Amino acid sequence: MKYKQLNIFGNEGRKSRLGKTDIEYKSAGSILTVASGFMADYDYTLNPYSGCSFGCTYCYAAFFSRNKEKMDTWGEWLTVKENALSLLQKKRRKPLINKTIYLSSVTDPYQPIEKELELTRSILKELLEFHKVRLVIQTRSALITRDIDLLKEFDVIQVNMTITTDSERIRKVFEPLCTGNKQRINAIKEIHASGIQCCITMTPLLPIENPEKFADELLSTGITRYIIQPFHKDKGKFVRGTRDEALKILDEFNWGDEEYQRVLSIMRKKIPNLGIGKTGFAPI
Ligand code: SF4
Repeated sequence: MKYKQLNIFGNEGRKSRLGKTDIEYKSAGSILTVASGFMADYDYTLNPYSGCSFGCTYCYAAFFSRNKEKMDTWGEWLTVKENALSLLQKKRRKPLINKTIYLSSVTDPYQPIEKELELTRSILKELLEFHKVRLVIQTRSALITRDIDLLKEFDVIQVNMTITTDSERIRKVFEPLCTGNKQRINAIKEIHASGIQCCITMTPLLPIENPEKFADELLSTGITRYIIQPFHKDKGKFVRGTRDEALKILDEFNWGDEEYQRVLSIMRKKIPNLGIGKTGFAPI
């Protein structure tokens, strides 16, 4: 199937601003990265953007920033890989049959600017031309519902929606610029209802106000795949200015290993298919 092609190629050097984010357009050297580390079970990771407008306070990707300034201002900058699509098109000569691709490992593919640019959407269209890729999409954004028409065309696909807490108050401290919890649940419910395999990733699991109710709400989506990962307060690193507030909440909920284990055991009883940590992220 043919689609109209994206027209942001050639915007190298362009700068703009959206909300609190400075946006730059740059050429990237490559677009498919051989997966390693936590993602080593995949063949490739694919990041259409560098940086992330969502600026989650606990984001590990921030620690891979190019320099300290970038790390300290995580959430305030985003680089659009303006040649992402043309780099991918060049790979057409090397088919990706049965290759597993994780979109994305160090950014969210559904940035607010994605609504206007449709870069991730264009990448999905291009990946459909490759045939038989095995795609996992990881997001915290409800914008992904825009692309349900394309997602339905993949033979092997899973959409992972991250939902880390049942509390909007907690969500706003740790993920201040992300889509709200309710919208994320509604979005993944809609994707699941359209016949696409879905998974809810509680990665990391933040303090939970009511674990039983939270599990029931997640299960009400009809989704059967879940992944959970701990957030240890002692090991928690915060890259942005909400550190004090974040630590206050973690103390308030006594959110250490013991409390996490208590919540985990409740979730385990409620949710039979609960994947834990890296094994939970294994490719489909
Ligand atoms: S959405 Fe993902 S990549 Fe972006 S800041 Fe949050 S954890 Fe990091």
